[in-house]
Amino acid sequence: MAHKYVYTFGAGKAEGNKDMKLLLGGKGANLAEMSNLGIPVPPGFTISTEVCHIYDENKGQFPKEVEEQVLAGVHHIEEIMGAKFGDAENPLLVSVRSGAPASMPGMMDTVLNLGLNDETVLGIIKKSNNERFGWDSYRRFVQMYGDVVMGLKPESKEEEDPFEVIIEKVKKEKGVELDTELDAEDLKRLVKLFKEEIKKRTGKDFPTDPWDQLWGAIRAVFGSWNNPRAITYRKLNNIPSNWGTAVNVQAMVFGNMGDDCATGVAFTRDPATGEKIFYGEYLVNAQGEDVVAGIRTPQPLNKTTKTDPDQTTLEEIMPEAYKQLEEIRDKLEAHYKDMQDIEFTIQNGRLWMLQTRAGKRTAEAAVRIAVDMVEEGLIDKETAVMRVEPEQLDQLLHPTFDPKAEKKVIAKGLPASPGAATGRIVFHADDAEEWAEKGEKVILVRIETSPEDIGGMNVAQGILTARGGMTSHAAVVARGMGKCCVAGCSALEIDYKKKTMTVDGAVYKEGDWISLDGSKGEVIEGKVPTVEPKLSGNFGKLMSWADEIRKLKIRTNADTPHDSEVARNFGAEGIGLCRTEHMFFEGDRIKAVREMILAEDEAGRRKALEKLLPYQRDDFYGIFKVMHDLPVTVRTLDPPLHEFLPHDEASQKEMAEEMGISVEEVKAKVEALAEFNPMLGHRGCRLGITYPEITEMQARAIIEAACQLTKEGIKVFPEIMIPLIGTKAELEHQKKVVVETAEKVMEEMGVKVDYLVGTMIEIPRAALTADRVAEAADFFSFGTNDLTQMTFGYSRDDAGKFLKEYEEKGILPDDPFQTLDQEGVGQLVEMGVKKGRSTRPDLKVGICGEHGGDPRSIDFCHRVGLDYVSCSPYRVPIARLAAAQAELRNRKK
Ligand code: PEP
Ligand code: MG
Repeated sequence: MAHKYVYTFGAGKAEGNKDMKLLLGGKGANLAEMSNLGIPVPPGFTISTEVCHIYDENKGQFPKEVEEQVLAGVHHIEEIMGAKFGDAENPLLVSVRSGAPASMPGMMDTVLNLGLNDETVLGIIKKSNNERFGWDSYRRFVQMYGDVVMGLKPESKEEEDPFEVIIEKVKKEKGVELDTELDAEDLKRLVKLFKEEIKKRTGKDFPTDPWDQLWGAIRAVFGSWNNPRAITYRKLNNIPSNWGTAVNVQAMVFGNMGDDCATGVAFTRDPATGEKIFYGEYLVNAQGEDVVAGIRTPQPLNKTTKTDPDQTTLEEIMPEAYKQLEEIRDKLEAHYKDMQDIEFTIQNGRLWMLQTRAGKRTAEAAVRIAVDMVEEGLIDKETAVMRVEPEQLDQLLHPTFDPKAEKKVIAKGLPASPGAATGRIVFHADDAEEWAEKGEKVILVRIETSPEDIGGMNVAQGILTARGGMTSHAAVVARGMGKCCVAGCSALEIDYKKKTMTVDGAVYKEGDWISLDGSKGEVIEGKVPTVEPKLSGNFGKLMSWADEIRKLKIRTNADTPHDSEVARNFGAEGIGLCRTEHMFFEGDRIKAVREMILAEDEAGRRKALEKLLPYQRDDFYGIFKVMHDLPVTVRTLDPPLHEFLPHDEASQKEMAEEMGISVEEVKAKVEALAEFNPMLGHRGCRLGITYPEITEMQARAIIEAACQLTKEGIKVFPEIMIPLIGTKAELEHQKKVVVETAEKVMEEMGVKVDYLVGTMIEIPRAALTADRVAEAADFFSFGTNDLTQMTFGYSRDDAGKFLKEYEEKGILPDDPFQTLDQEGVGQLVEMGVKKGRSTRPDLKVGICGEHGGDPRSIDFCHRVGLDYVSCSPYRVPIARLAAAQAELRNRKK
């Protein structure tokens, strides 16, 4: 038997079904499925994705079987429709549409009304008794075919569609504005002019034989799989290029033949709220594209969703068709067990379904639909957990802009930290604090931020930077604070002196209002109203199901009691990273820190550290208390010391005055600490090894706080973590300082606390020698920010400059600072876990780089056997859901 390339559907049966998406594409598989369910779909056939490969390999030639099967497919349609392809009296018209296994909206081509020529158009006019309709269908067909098959479609935004130019000309001559004002004669003229234009541009005549038209369209659709737009889209969305597209050829049905015709789109539940109501829009006497084109206002489907008494619902004007549509809605939901997005057309009172697919929905709707469907008995809890996109939850955890509000987007940057913020522009952290003190809402706009800006960032509504990537200082700190941030917005020209920000020639001054959408990376002019998040009962339910399923523990990166509390409320099961450096900037502490840096000898440093000790102890006391009964990983000091000194002239002067020394002395110290590459310089454990007294002070503060709380009857589990080690000896050195200090403190205070000493694995060498390192470590925490930086050799602060381009050009599939590079960096993680556990089987292993909050990276962490992931407080629910999905996904395999 000949190989099967063509699958028919229609009249209550089909040769394919919904599970054949790879072969028939999403659209074809669902059309077949609807046919099998007895739902009325215009009859047609699907040419399988296999033919797409043949088309590619044979340079547009098809094997004989394909030709024969297409011919038989057309006969199949003719029989059901009682019309004949190319017949002058009773012509059959078809649509030719692409349909890939994954949705690629607008990327590939479609031709409608195929089969029309100067003869068949008369047949259509006679059949419909509508001259204007006939000529309008014909001119739409010539236009689409000319664009898609004959290559007249403009390639760039600047070019005009030649057909639109002609339409404009004809309208102008006639003195009318709308296409609908053109009559049959005008449309007839358009057909003629269009064909002349095609001849002029291509040297070819417009094909009059419907069979030539059909093969031309089929070739064009297969060919569109490899158009540059589609290739780029596939790369960006990880769609394999060897999938190919299918082609659907289907009888045309018309919603624009008269007032007993209509066309519309609907969702089986409300896609905004998830409420179980039938929600959609339609237009009488219109074609599909008119509903979305915005020329006429579509009307609501039914009385339930009517918002204005003047609206006419389908339920009222075509009750029969509406009733049938409602029945189909129930049937589709019961069958697909998910909310569907459907398209329909009513031709002369008869309903046809054109498409069904899982409907896109807001986070609120996704959660509600998943939970409701479990309660309705349609799906189980596991399915519900898989139904919600973890990233989407973000929308539920931050205030968002009122979707109804108008907004003018002036620039786009990286969506570094989600949320919606409105405030007045300030350019300096001090100003932010000053303005906030006066009750002003501010947006801190910086070229980039540094640890000094922390106070200003803290009081700002949102943060906007011109430079830096997803792990730049601004991005990391903002996410930690749950504060909206748009980073790396390179279109901004910031002038600190003039206090202006220029975008595309428009100048924004200090005090001007702007808004930031941290989820989209948008910078918006003026104020935009926001709405507060509601963590509804459904959200809690879904989370509890996720918790029952997941194996990974979820911790948080937090360094204040407030952030810890936020994270705990979101379900964090401990702190995976408490960065201590931020604590050094608050209030008077920075003075003591600077004293320590300026000190000439150990005695001087110890004196300054003495002053810091009580502050640090209080910090840890506060955090441990909030996190009672849960583990808290505290990292010893990590950044290079120069970060604690001012770099601009004015601040250096201020520091000199405060410390009672000369500006020259300050400058000299800054210069002495300057490094060519501070990220690879004197930081992390290297500092602790040079100045063990710093580690000692921190260990003392941690253990004193822990002992105090233990005395108060509060359970604490401190885990002291040494950053940036590359050798076992480095860890051993620092561990010795910590253990000796801890023993001393416990003796002094007369209590014992259980504490662990472990290390970050963030230098490739540490991962490579993890078996040795583990001999000295109670736990590992992968610092995948630095590990990514050092494995790729990309500076995490500068890579923003080229990473976007790398992604666009397909050199990297993702930003490796956002989504763990499993192929490269992942190998080091996997090796680190294996080697570490080979010498210490009970080694506790987690991750605390930004990847700990990224769903795809979490899936990887689950697979390589980590014990926990740690992420910023606002990502904790996302991580809980992603961890549950990782378990389910990998359980199935
Ligand atoms: C890391 O490097 O992944 C990490 C968590 O540490 P930091 O971002 O503070 O360098
Ligand atoms: Mg690090």
